[in-house]
Amino acid sequence: MNLRIGHGYDIHRTAPGRKLVLGGVRFEADFGLEGHSDADALTHAICDALLGAAGLPDIGHQFPDTDPAYRGADSQALLRRVVELLRARGWAPANVDATLIAERPRIAPRLDEMKAALARSTGLPVDAVGLKATTNEGVGDIGRGLAIAAHAVALVRPA
Ligand code: MG
Repeated sequence: MNLRIGHGYDIHRTAPGRKLVLGGVRFEADFGLEGHSDADALTHAICDALLGAAGLPDIGHQFPDTDPAYRGADSQALLRRVVELLRARGWAPANVDATLIAERPRIAPRLDEMKAALARSTGLPVDAVGLKATTNEGVGDIGRGLAIAAHAVALVRPA
């Protein structure tokens, strides 16, 4: 079988007065994430895993934060664009699996919504989207709520 694996990681600082979007789902919180786009760290990690699997340059190269076109961008639109870039190279997502690291808010009640949004954007069935959330047990900057991070892996197959 001709399969490729990719890995992605992203971290964004928390900031008051910003909206909080994770995995394409809007959370009600008294803070959001800093960033040029909607700062959806989870979706960015998944984008980078998919791009990496196809041997393509990372999300910062595809959608530069110096480009006003991506200001406030919906990261689900970026993920859909990543899937198009893969397809142009003859690849399609086979599955993705990601871990979100956030001290707050509580993520678990929204996991199914996030998986559904990510499945729609990648064109994958929901059961091919793995998603876990953990806190950082109070350790370090993520544990103090100063940032939210995500790790992701993705497998791609010939389109
Ligand atoms: Mg990012």
